[in-house]
Amino acid sequence: MNETQAVATIDRSGRKENAAPRIMIVEDEPSIALMLAYNLEAAGFAVERVERGDEAELRIAEEPPDLLILDWMLPGVSGLEICRRLRARDATKTLPVIMLTARGEEKERVRGLSVGADDYVVKPFSVPEFMARVQALMRRVNPGRVASKLKQGEIELDRETRRVWRAGREVHLGPTEFRLLEYLMEKPGRVFSRAQLLDSVWGMASEIDERTVDVHVGRLRKAIARGRERDPLRTVRGSGYSFDETFGRD
Ligand code: CA
Repeated sequence: MNETQAVATIDRSGRKENAAPRIMIVEDEPSIALMLAYNLEAAGFAVERVERGDEAELRIAEEPPDLLILDWMLPGVSGLEICRRLRARDATKTLPVIMLTARGEEKERVRGLSVGADDYVVKPFSVPEFMARVQALMRRVNPGRVASKLKQGEIELDRETRRVWRAGREVHLGPTEFRLLEYLMEKPGRVFSRAQLLDSVWGMASEIDERTVDVHVGRLRKAIARGRERDPLRTVRGSGYSFDETFGRD
């Protein structure tokens, strides 16, 4: 299955089967749209992708998402104009919007915020930073839709304070180990390749050797499973790593 098919399947099933918060990505650069869709879906959101500004306006009118990722430069209607129009209508006045823009447009930041965008991200951006902004905005506008704490067995992770505990004992992790654990704990049982982890935890522009992932997984393991404590991380030979979904069930 290629990436395009995978995302299309997520769109259809995610919207029907559960009440996952829905995010619409309006972005005409397929590589960025796919990368965002992949990461948002992995974090539990239902994702819809639209490439044109005019198409986005129609879809939002039909079925407003819970959060909108809006590129500035779009075919049809610009992101700036869409945002301005959304704010002028009662139904979409408070719809959370994150605007994306290319580096050269950075000076336009004030204009973006003045038409009512809630946040503003300049390309190229790191995936972890982008995801943190999405989660922060979701929490701000709709507390309760995004859990600030992840818990699996005796391991607890708090996204807000960036702290981790095992059976009540605090586990001190470096920032990379924290993001790695957070990412794996969001999808227990799902196996992520080293390349996927590099993309998601280290960021899209990362040119780091894949063995770096092994080093940080090793550090995370050492911190989280002391002595004879059970290791919650699984190494899947030839594939990658996952958080053991059976951890804490026995
Ligand atoms: Ca664009």
